[in-house]
This record gives sequence, C-alpha cells and structure tokens, in this order.
Amino acid sequence: MTKVIDTLKNMNRDGKNIFSILQKNGPLTKAQIMDLTKLKLTTLNRIIKPIIDEKLIVEASIGESTGGRRPSLYDVNMTDYAFIGIDISRIYTQVIFADFKLNIIHKERFSMDSSYSPEKTVDRITDICKNAIHMAELMNKELIAVGLGTVGPMDIYKGIMKSPANFMSKGWTGTPIKEMLQKNLNLEVYMDNGANAAVTVEYLFGYGKNLKNIAYFNFGIGIRTGAISDGNIVRTINDAEDAFAHMVIDVDGEKCICGNYGCVECYSSIKSITKNFKKRIAMGESTKIQKSIDDINYIDISLAAQNGDNVSEEVIKKAAEIFGTGLSNFINLLNPELIILSGPLIMVSELFYKISVATAKQKCYLSKHSNIFFNRGGYFKENAISAGAAAMAIENLLRE
Ligand SMILES: [Zn+2]
Repeated sequence: MTKVIDTLKNMNRDGKNIFSILQKNGPLTKAQIMDLTKLKLTTLNRIIKPIIDEKLIVEASIGESTGGRRPSLYDVNMTDYAFIGIDISRIYTQVIFADFKLNIIHKERFSMDSSYSPEKTVDRITDICKNAIHMAELMNKELIAVGLGTVGPMDIYKGIMKSPANFMSKGWTGTPIKEMLQKNLNLEVYMDNGANAAVTVEYLFGYGKNLKNIAYFNFGIGIRTGAISDGNIVRTINDAEDAFAHMVIDVDGEKCICGNYGCVECYSSIKSITKNFKKRIAMGESTKIQKSIDDINYIDISLAAQNGDNVSEEVIKKAAEIFGTGLSNFINLLNPELIILSGPLIMVSELFYKISVATAKQKCYLSKHSNIFFNRGGYFKENAISAGAAAMAIENLLRE
C-alpha cells in the first residue's frame, strides 16, 4: 500500500493545485473548481478521480441549487488524517495535532527550564506524541508528517539549529533537530523558524487570508519577525527571525547581545523590559509591586503599568515607543497591509500594544496614504507557531 505522504508528494501539478484550493477554500462544487483552475470538466474528472479513490478528497455534502439537481461539494478529507505541529520556543514547547485545514484536534504544552537539553525536549515531545495517538480523537487518524517551528538561525534543509540564543539549557548549538525528531517519531519532519511558520498560517488560514503582504511579530524572550511580501516569505540567509530585533534605533544606545548599540532588542523584548525595570529600582526608584526584586517578571511589570505604577508604566511606554519606531521603519520598507503583534508580552500588555501601534502610525510615512491594519494576537493566538509549522509541512508536500 502506498503511504499517504507519497500519494500527496506524487500528485501532478494540477492535482496538487486542486487539493490546495480545496484545502484553503473548500468545500467547492466542480463548477467552482473549474472556475478557479481553468480546467475543463473532463480534465478535472480525470485528475480528481484517483485523489478521491485515495480518500484525500471527499464528497463533502450537497450544495445550494439554483434549480434542477443539486451539485455535490468536494473538500479535503478532514476526518482520517492528521499532522503534528511542534513549536520549540526557548522557554516552552507546544505540540499540536491538526487536520488538513489546521483545525486543532489535540494540544499539549510544557515549560522548559535549564534542564531541557535538546535530548530531553525531544524525548518529552516523543512521549506526548506516543500517548496522544491512543486518545479517542486521534486513534483512527493516520499521521502524515510533522512540522517544526523553532528558533533560528538554522539550516532548514539539513535540519540543524545553528546557534540559537537564549535557551536556558546549554547544548542547543548545532542540534540536528530534524533528524532527532524523524528518528523518534518515524515521520518526515519539515522545519522552519517559528516566525515564518506563524506568518504563513495567518496568511493562508488566518486574518491574512486574501491579503498579499502581511507581517507578524512575536514578543517572547526575543522579538521574532516573519513577513509575507507579495505572497512569498521574506527569507534571510540563515533563516534567522531576529533581524528586525537588531535594527539600530539609537546610535548612542545601550549595548546589545549582538555586540552593536541601541538595537530594538535592547529596549522592547521581555528580557530588556525586565532588565531596564530592575535597573531603575536598583538605582533607588520605588515600585508598587509587592515582590522581591528578583521575583518580578514582565507580567508583574505589565500589570503594574496599567495600575498606576510609574516606573512600570515608563518602562513599558519606552519599550513600546522604541518598538513602534522600528515598526514604522519596517512598514516603510515592506509596506504590509496587515501587521499582527503577538506573543506573551502583547497578550498581557494592552498598553504596550496600543502605544506600539500609535507610534508606528504616527511615525510611518505610508500610513498617511494607505490603510494599514493592526491586530493583537492574530487569528491563531498562542497556537500560531505550532499550527504554522503543520501548515508549512503541508505546503512543502504540495510543492515537492
Ligand atoms: Zn542587537
């Protein structure tokens, strides 16, 4: 028996195109498919038949009739197959199981402390997957492939994480993560950086659907950025996602982890917000946060900023103004129609989000001439990277 993954890979170009159209827009009638593909009915029937025989496309239901016999609707099979999407993001890992349309069937997440080496992380992911396939919602589904969204820089073809910064455990540099996962899960793994995964799923299935130019920013331990320009991912040499974070915003600014001075990263990441807050308290300023200084984190600062704590408010405002200034430069450069700001900091701090957007709008040249939409969290929220990783695995299969 041919494996489903091979059937998907071996479909001809028209077959892949029809499958992709149904995946994104189905259910559709044959007339609608013909309209979108410009194929004749005889050709469509010939191409679609083996895909229906393989149960990858199914007759979904009966459509609206305009008189006479009601036409059948076709769609991708959302019942029998599943993909795994993995998001390894320095302080947590999330694993999801999703159908062809990225509906999440099952999801698990764990935090990562300094004990989470690559080996321990992969073992934990393996355990999650091996247990999940026996659950009622997954036991009758065939797993097709795995998508991984993780931290760059990386070599996505060799499947190696090159030198990702800020993991709590040592040992992540040079990790052959793709091979490790493939061996343990016995499935093909496709990898990319987490921000590219997130922007892809928002573009194909989220708020970016029907747009051509969108950007996605994730505020976690670092600031991770992904962009789609005219329908294509904007790629960087090592598939790193932190290029934007090292945009210099203040030539006389603080020293950054990259060796330069005054990068966005120095002011606007979770790490910098916490550091800048603690520095001010250490210099003698007072805060209303009732915790010992070592225990104060970005959540405390974000909440205090909205409850009248002066130092917190100033640190968050400064962080957002600097990010918003960088964002205005980014907008001028890439002209996105939609900008999604997401990640733990954005979700906890409405103040940060609002000031970032206001600053970007005020300082950017383009916003005076065109409508740019901003969104907090995106459609996929905290699932964007893992769902995006699964979406990229499917896209790869339909491209190979
Ligand atoms: Zn830097």
